[in-house]
Amino acid sequence: MNRTAVARQSSQDKPNPFDSALEQLRIAAEHLKLEDGIHQILMHPKREVTVSLPVRLDTGETHVFTGYRVQYSDARGPSKGGIRYHPNVSLDEVKALAAWMTWKCSIADIPFGGAKGGVICNPKKMSQGELERMTRRYTAAIADFIGPYRDIPAPDVYTNAQVMAWIVDTYSTLKGYMVPEVVTGKPVSLGGSLGRDKATGRGAAFCTVEAAKVKKLSLKNATYAVEGFGNAGANYAEILQGYGSKLIAASDSKGGVTNRNGMDAMKLVAHKERTGSVVGFPGSQPVTDRELLQLDVDILCPAALENTITPDIAKGVRAKVITECANGPTTPEADKVIDSNGVFLVPDILANSGGVIVSYLEWVQNLDRVRWTEEEVNSKLEHKINGAFADVYQTSQKHGTSMRTAGLMVGVGRVADAIRTLGIFP
Ligand code: NAD
Repeated sequence: MNRTAVARQSSQDKPNPFDSALEQLRIAAEHLKLEDGIHQILMHPKREVTVSLPVRLDTGETHVFTGYRVQYSDARGPSKGGIRYHPNVSLDEVKALAAWMTWKCSIADIPFGGAKGGVICNPKKMSQGELERMTRRYTAAIADFIGPYRDIPAPDVYTNAQVMAWIVDTYSTLKGYMVPEVVTGKPVSLGGSLGRDKATGRGAAFCTVEAAKVKKLSLKNATYAVEGFGNAGANYAEILQGYGSKLIAASDSKGGVTNRNGMDAMKLVAHKERTGSVVGFPGSQPVTDRELLQLDVDILCPAALENTITPDIAKGVRAKVITECANGPTTPEADKVIDSNGVFLVPDILANSGGVIVSYLEWVQNLDRVRWTEEEVNSKLEHKINGAFADVYQTSQKHGTSMRTAGLMVGVGRVADAIRTLGIFP
């Protein structure tokens, strides 16, 4: 049976993310010699929900938004994954992100399956009131499908702790009792975990430390560039700076900045908070996205959106290590170029798993009604993600594959094992 998905193109003429996810699954299945039946199961999300969300705008008009929730697999536990608010959200993007969540939770060896949600909207053009009403309507629309033992949402692009608080309130109102454990990434005052806000960046930094050991690269004075100076990217930049590395360039949707002498990550965060962008940071020069990705730096961290490293860009990448904070930033074709050029790439499903690892820790604390200190959380995160890095690295060494393929082999392999052991109902 031909497993190559029909090539679909997204609006930016970039590969369809679900095609990329299926291609990655195909490669893992081939290496794992997966039975056809299990491969077929893994090619299909368990459940896809599309909802229409009528929302009253501040003008008094009504706009109907479209939202999705995809539960890719729950073979290893309740499904888990963020909610994205973005104009380019599509069902195929949500499906791809849900598949990656499945492999990610499996690599981190936490007892979750994978899911993802999204609403097609432009949050930058919406008021807080409109965002709140849309979030509550979305929560009500998917309330029957989510829950602490079913599917646990979390923040993703342009959603945050406040959005999670509205979800808790709406879900709890519908249930008639407080259910803070229905989402993770909540404000700390509502049972959110200490350390969750920086967890993705911190986890990616821990992976960079391990990758640097493999590449025999000293992090002291190592140079790095971050594409997408948002939650994940900015926290990554701050934490890596703590190891003595120098931030040479950073970008956001409004543009990029560079300074060969290094930029203080904390000051850049303050500048972005003040002005809304990294653009115009004192002492820096402008840099395009392409230039940033191909800068002469030791470490490159794509932390924006999917498919930013295309084969054409990959040819000019000069970094020794790529730590993928974003989901799906490198296209499968670009992966081949990166791999053949000897760049050590820590794949997204490992590199950005810090967020879901601490989400898991938040869920455990909520269900057990306990509170851990930030030090306890960070140390559990380090232990978990370093264990995952070691599993993936050893698999790559044993099978002579890239870290991407090894990550998929570990992630897909464990989900396949669970499905095989559970059997197929009826
Ligand atoms: P965010 O909204 O906080 O940050 C995204 C940043 O990317 C913003 O600064 C935005 O301006 C920038 N950006 C958007 N388009 C860009 C472009 N074309 N060029 C350069 N910059 C651009 O979102 P986030 O939570 O940091 O997520 C970023 C990526 O990390 C996403 O792929 C997300 O799925 C992934 N991720 C995030 C988490 C998390 O816990 N936040 C966890 C796992 C994975």
